[in-house]
Amino acid sequence: MSTITNELFIYNSLTGQKEKFEPIYENRVGMYVCGPTLYSEPHMGNMRTFINFDMIYRYLLKLGYQVKYVRNITDAGHITNSAGDDVDSIGKVARLEQVQSLEIVYKYNVNFQELQRIYNMLPPNIEPTATGHIQEQIEIIEQIIDNGFAYVVNGSVYFDVRAYSEKFEYGILSGRKVDELAEETRTLNAQDEKRFFADFALWKKANPEDMQIWRSPWGNGNPGWHIECTAMSTKYLGSQFDIHGGGLDLKFPHHEDEIAQNCGSLGCNPAKYWMHANMLNVNGQKMSKSLGNYFLPKEIVEGTTAVFDKPYAPNVIRFSMMQAHYRSTLDFTSDSLNAAEKGFSRLSEAIDKLEKLPTAETSSQDVQAIVASFYKAMGDDFNAPILLANIFEAVKYINSISDGNASISKADLELLSTELTSFVLDVLGLSLSKASTDSKLAPVMDLVLDIRKAARENKDWATSDKIRDGLAAAGIVVKDGKEGTSWS
Ligand code: AMP
Ligand code: ZN
Repeated sequence: MSTITNELFIYNSLTGQKEKFEPIYENRVGMYVCGPTLYSEPHMGNMRTFINFDMIYRYLLKLGYQVKYVRNITDAGHITNSAGDDVDSIGKVARLEQVQSLEIVYKYNVNFQELQRIYNMLPPNIEPTATGHIQEQIEIIEQIIDNGFAYVVNGSVYFDVRAYSEKFEYGILSGRKVDELAEETRTLNAQDEKRFFADFALWKKANPEDMQIWRSPWGNGNPGWHIECTAMSTKYLGSQFDIHGGGLDLKFPHHEDEIAQNCGSLGCNPAKYWMHANMLNVNGQKMSKSLGNYFLPKEIVEGTTAVFDKPYAPNVIRFSMMQAHYRSTLDFTSDSLNAAEKGFSRLSEAIDKLEKLPTAETSSQDVQAIVASFYKAMGDDFNAPILLANIFEAVKYINSISDGNASISKADLELLSTELTSFVLDVLGLSLSKASTDSKLAPVMDLVLDIRKAARENKDWATSDKIRDGLAAAGIVVKDGKEGTSWS
């Protein structure tokens, strides 16, 4: 007989191995995930990373852990772009739109929060902002300087990679060797200020065009990008916590530098397990703002992307994402989304049947083993695609019970119903909202159909056609029959 196990193995990017998950404090998990830079609407690729960590958060909750999930909002700071320039990306947009930086951030944060609701993501426990933690960032920088791992030049502060490398290993996460980095580096902005090419900014002296400026012991300026995550993760989760996550593209330099800052100030690597979610690709290439090959999470739901010829429901998109492991790349295509649409509807139908299934003395399948396979899949580094494959084995079983070709006992049906719906709703974060949507829509539809009926009685065909066409455009079909009018 298969036993249900709560054992969890996580692939740790730091060691390159799957390791048994053992939280620092029993039954509690501290998890930090790098959040969005809100100078534009997050694209579908950004959302994939956040949805994957939502699934990870959900499974930790399912296992009964008390999780403190912190995901920051980058609303300040200079980010080093691929050309090696330190850019204030939020300020750049604010200047263009002739508004303040925080107006840009606020606008896109409202939008981001709405996207989270649309895609059924649980809110983190804390969503701290970089601008709200300038003092904490300054204090950590001071600590790094005191420890001899940073230096001040002309109102800016740089992390001293060579001094750091004498005591710690720079490159421990990304595997990059300092000597190899030299070849990758072009002539950097402010290169002359740095003592060594791999040094990175902790604090940047204010430029005349900067939109946001703060006072610091080194003069007016603003923080480097990496330091905000060190300040906020340690403030809310302590100098060492369980899981640190983000997209794979953040592994270097962002996360490498976070480790250096943490070791350089507090003497330890901030996280026990480093987790990296892989990219959403478009035709094999990473979806990115700069490549212009992106579409927005709302466009795909509304059917207004240039790529797909029809809209897809958020549930279908989430389902499709869950069909790929979080460490694998995923390419969205019409074929994969259409297949996800079919798969999701098969799954919903099977769950609908659960309530009405007949029970028997005995079960023709080992239900305990089916349920154990759900836990086993997720316990193996959150393997959602294997979980879905196992769930579809259960769907087959449900359909054969419903067709009278298989049997299930009352106790087993209860176990299967509880666990199947919990994995689908609570862990994968899918919602089976058809019934509830219909019930919310019913009074509105009664009203609309009453107006249509009155219009028809008054021979106001224009109004009645307008209503019928409008409903059709919204995907609602109205049928007039002997027993009255019905809709679906
Ligand atoms: P950003 O707002 O650029 O800081 O990105 C927010 C998050 O989205 C980070 O964790 C990135 O690693 C992640 N990300 C960026 N592009 C993609 C992509 N194409 N697929 C998946 N995640 C991405
Ligand atoms: Zn970060």
